[in-house]
Amino acid sequence: MLGPQGSGKGTQAEFLSNRLHAPHVAMGDIIRREIRAGSPLGETLRQYNDRGELVPDDTILELVGPILRANDNWILDGFPRDLAQARALDAFLQDEHHPLDRLVALEIPEEPLTERLAGRVQSEGTGATYHLIHNPPPPEDPGPFVQRADDAPKGIRRRLELYHKLTEPLKQHYEDQGLIAHVDANGSIDEVRDRVFTALGLG
Ligand code: AMP
Repeated sequence: MLGPQGSGKGTQAEFLSNRLHAPHVAMGDIIRREIRAGSPLGETLRQYNDRGELVPDDTILELVGPILRANDNWILDGFPRDLAQARALDAFLQDEHHPLDRLVALEIPEEPLTERLAGRVQSEGTGATYHLIHNPPPPEDPGPFVQRADDAPKGIRRRLELYHKLTEPLKQHYEDQGLIAHVDANGSIDEVRDRVFTALGLG
């Protein structure tokens, strides 16, 4: 899944994960879990995460490699995030004789993103992500609900800047491999889910 912060990658990846019975590998969640665990690695990750900066590639590969090896299929969300990571993933998949099936590129103009990110909260209890207006927390999630440190205005600006500079060029990389399905992500959660499923022939 490729798309800017706030495009709904995580939400849509979760739908696909349930439909295809493939684990949702959410790089940001893996990183935040490590930070919450309070390990020395978590402390290093926090320095990058809270500022909205990217974690170095070798650390990312150490975190994601064992998960890729342990499962036959996955929905990748937040990885790869730059060309170096995409090349590392290509090499890994070639060794495993297991090509990528599709890349879903969520397309959305910049204006709705800031509003979506500013209203986003995460449950400290379950790790689930909600939006205070568009997708409020359900009564069964005990919370507490907090705003992510990197969803503060400065972090949002930095992450969108890095997305355009480092992550968006991946579209060309995967366009060249004929793998991209472009999906309009400017709509309700259900509308976008229908478009994603249709684009993947799961309609
Ligand atoms: P996300 O939840 O996908 O917005 O990710 C939150 C933060 O985790 C990012 O701002 C980075 O600090 C870090 N992160 C997540 N995925 C990656 C990745 N593939 N490479 C480097 N840093 C990452």
